Amino acid sequence: MLQAGLPRDVLRRATIYSSGEPCAMCSAAIFYTGIGRAVYGLSAGAILHLRNAQPHTAGLSLSCRAVLDSAAEKVAVVGPCLEEEGAVPHQGYWQEGAA
Ligand SMILES: [Zn+2]
Repeated sequence: MLQAGLPRDVLRRATIYSSGEPCAMCSAAIFYTGIGRAVYGLSAGAILHLRNAQPHTAGLSLSCRAVLDSAAEKVAVVGPCLEEEGAVPHQGYWQEGAA
């Protein structure tokens, strides 16, 4: 578990795991905290599909790879992983046009 004040070399060896692909804002936060690797389950596209997102609710479609590949310091990205399993908690949750 991460805690405040960790040295940068420790953060660079850390991995953050998320059930869904980090959005552009979270990807930037991952970079700026110095975390060296991100692993995610559901792709942003799969989440949009599960949400039945509409153009006005879809938000940014920039992948976390697009954001993190542009970073000056490399952040490894692994995902999507286990999308079928990751979709289970979403099924029946999102209603049409939900944010
Ligand atoms: Zn986010």
